[in-house]
Amino acid sequence: MLSNISPARALLVLAGLFASAPAFATVNVVTTTQDLAALTQAVGGSNVKVSWIARGDLDPHFVDAKPSYMLKLASADLVVCVGMELEVGWLPPLLSGAGNPKVQSGTSGYLEASQAITPIEVPDGTIDRSRGDIHPAGNPHYWLDPENGRKVAHLIEARLEQVDPQNAASYKSNLATFDATMTTKEAAWASALAPMKGSAIIGYHSTFDYLAKAYGLNVVGFVEPKPGIPPTPQHTLDLVALAKANSVKYVIVEPFHNAADAGPIASGSGAKVLTLPSSVGGLTGADDYFKLFDTIVRILTTGA
Ligand SMILES: [Zn+2]
Repeated sequence: MLSNISPARALLVLAGLFASAPAFATVNVVTTTQDLAALTQAVGGSNVKVSWIARGDLDPHFVDAKPSYMLKLASADLVVCVGMELEVGWLPPLLSGAGNPKVQSGTSGYLEASQAITPIEVPDGTIDRSRGDIHPAGNPHYWLDPENGRKVAHLIEARLEQVDPQNAASYKSNLATFDATMTTKEAAWASALAPMKGSAIIGYHSTFDYLAKAYGLNVVGFVEPKPGIPPTPQHTLDLVALAKANSVKYVIVEPFHNAADAGPIASGSGAKVLTLPSSVGGLTGADDYFKLFDTIVRILTTGA
């Protein structure tokens, strides 16, 4: 009986009751990338606790399977990943090491965000090592088209409603706010980039192909001779010629690439090397999904 225990003990009992009440629960979400973390935070609001595995300033194709990542996954209620085999080298071993049945592939606690989008560059023909480290399911860097980010936000919201139905109204309302901000922002980004329509660029990897498609930039080549294969002197010479022939404006590298690989292409052709963030957290200031595009648009339009 409550009257027979100390006031402190009674408070502890009451605190325990509140702590276990569903309205106070938060969904523990682990995402593979910072982009997915930003989108999950935007729609999850105060009902989710979000952490991520791959830092936005590092290459998401290669992540060391650290025990600390397994610990994160061991206590997750929901895992959100990019899919399309981007994380194929590191997420499956982390998930099996974590041993958390709630978030294994095929459960409601596991969400591949790529379900929401239409892939580009799906390869046909035989996929073997002669084609480099090709993306077999198509280009997985789809979060760099803001409309795909919007679709992924809708997918995550639906899954949050499924795993945490009590807070459905809150998720719906957060998504509506996100949608409204996206609509305003997308109009601003489109008008800022409109003068660049048709501009030729060279990428390092196929990372910015969705961005280029969304804003009418023309990707004419890649610093990598094949996906995942480092540049060779002959390929660099070929790119100088290609850059000259197409009046390439920018050679775009990511923060984790060696910009020196792109230097000779730019200096040989009159193009300029630009470092763009490819993910939230990729460069200072790209702190959420909106600021990622704010940063990309600022760098592309100012050339610095
Ligand atoms: Zn890739």
